Amino acid sequence: MAYDIETKCLHLEQQGETCDKSGAISFPIYQTATFAHLGVGKSTGYDYSRLQNPTREQVEKVVAGLEGGVDAVAFSSGMAAVSAVMELFRPGDQVIVDEDLYGGSVRLFLNISQKNGIEITRVNLCTEPVENYITERTKAVFLETPTNPMMNVIDIRKISESTKKHGILLIVDNTFLSPYFQNPLKLGADIVVHSGTKYLGGHNDTLAGFVVSGTKELAEQMRFTIKTTGAGLAPFDSWLILRGIKTLALRMEKAQANAIRLAHWLQEQPEVVRVIYPGLNEHPGHIIMKQQAGGFGAMLTFEVTSKELVAQILERVKLIQFAESLGGVETLITYPITQTHADVPPEILERNGITDRVLRLSVGIENVDDLICDLEQAFFD
Ligand SMILES: *Cc1c(COP(=O)(O)O)cnc(C)c1O
Repeated sequence: MAYDIETKCLHLEQQGETCDKSGAISFPIYQTATFAHLGVGKSTGYDYSRLQNPTREQVEKVVAGLEGGVDAVAFSSGMAAVSAVMELFRPGDQVIVDEDLYGGSVRLFLNISQKNGIEITRVNLCTEPVENYITERTKAVFLETPTNPMMNVIDIRKISESTKKHGILLIVDNTFLSPYFQNPLKLGADIVVHSGTKYLGGHNDTLAGFVVSGTKELAEQMRFTIKTTGAGLAPFDSWLILRGIKTLALRMEKAQANAIRLAHWLQEQPEVVRVIYPGLNEHPGHIIMKQQAGGFGAMLTFEVTSKELVAQILERVKLIQFAESLGGVETLITYPITQTHADVPPEILERNGITDRVLRLSVGIENVDDLICDLEQAFFD
């Protein structure tokens, strides 16, 4: 029987296989580096925790199940996961990446991937046909949707028609929506990446990353990479992510409901120039998002009238914390230009409209009226 995603957050489909003999409801933390062998050629299935550890294996199975992948590999951070994906490519390969991406991914692509001989071509995949940029050397297209922080929506199915036609990979960073709202593999992607630090963990207390593969061949390559480069998720952190995922459905629904209320409230404020949230009917990506995702998420970006007002808001918020990161139960406000996007080249910032008047909210699960009160006192004297 195939479970619904709400159930899959709590129970694996083949629960029996992985259940501990004690009957523990919470999956045990196997805090061990190595495993004893029963004899020559007789392994329990576990040899050394860099290769695999039961707790990590459990969270990998859960995440693979949520995304509908063949396999998922758990890394020590989202960036470790993105770095591992880039190990699929060789010098001379070209990778097309969307222009509006998480700042850390931009830093990796422009400094490390390029140094390793991989040509990175930045394209606005929301407005420009990817076909125009695919060459014989193109091996993959990498994107996020909705994008960070400008919430551009990219049509995954449409891009996948091109990547399939040319036999290249489509890699989607699905951090912003989590598998609860969007499953890129089902829309034609080949690989899904997550910063598990965000919605999967959900409590702003653990770093983690995932690579979910859509084929057995890719899964084998990712297994080889983690075994060889060694950035696997630790047993305790694997357990924290397992625990976080148990409430993924509830958290996503509540955070989204709060985000919709806040988006409407912000729209009514004269000091707010624009509110960018794909759940608003007027958002240019609203219809595509309805077709490819089960919800709009809880990330929203807004622009105010002046840089001075930005400083005032960031100083005055009390309940809302001025901090980097997203996807946790606490509402966080971020100033992309000095935080997440500090290393993004100025011409990209300008083209994407990431000005010194733009703020990003990761809406949490607090009472929404308390959040509005907090913003009200931060905006007005
Ligand atoms: C945070 C984030 C990452 C990086 O993840 P870490 O866990 O911080 O290394 C990658 N992509 C997106 C969209 C993110 O928000």
